Amino acid sequence: MAIMATIKIRAGFLPIEIANYFRESTSSKGLHLIKHILHVEESSVDVKSTILAKCIPQASINKDPYRVEITLTPERKIEDGHCNCVARISGQCKHVAALAHYVNRERTVSGTDSAQQWQKPSEFRQSLYPKGETIEELFHLPPAEPPSYSSDLSEADDFLKI
Ligand SMILES: [Zn+2]
Repeated sequence: MAIMATIKIRAGFLPIEIANYFRESTSSKGLHLIKHILHVEESSVDVKSTILAKCIPQASINKDPYRVEITLTPERKIEDGHCNCVARISGQCKHVAALAHYVNRERTVSGTDSAQQWQKPSEFRQSLYPKGETIEELFHLPPAEPPSYSSDLSEADDFLKI
């Protein structure tokens, strides 16, 4: 009897084929819930994968998160979904849809680079400009009183939000 190793990953997920698993409206609601998805973990045994996650309820962030699960076929199509929310529509609720979209957009949703930028906004801002130069020197502006970085920094903020 062969012993199959279980491989668990929490990042770098391969895309999954969502196809027509969800209703169109549910799928687009799920897209808006991508940032409510937490603790994503994919367990693979041989070629079969199960993705587990939590989804913070949209209406009340104080409620317990829903437990969301997606089972994949070896071709990474959605075979089955589960969620303990009240919708109970055979695991095809917006929370399961949110997890499916999360997996496919993981790099843009929680990419390591952007996470680090959020944790260290000041360092990131500094990196936007050559070291040792103030913004005034860089743009050949006369020194203002008080220093008016505000418009430049708000552009940096907008950049961070993308
Ligand atoms: Zn649900």
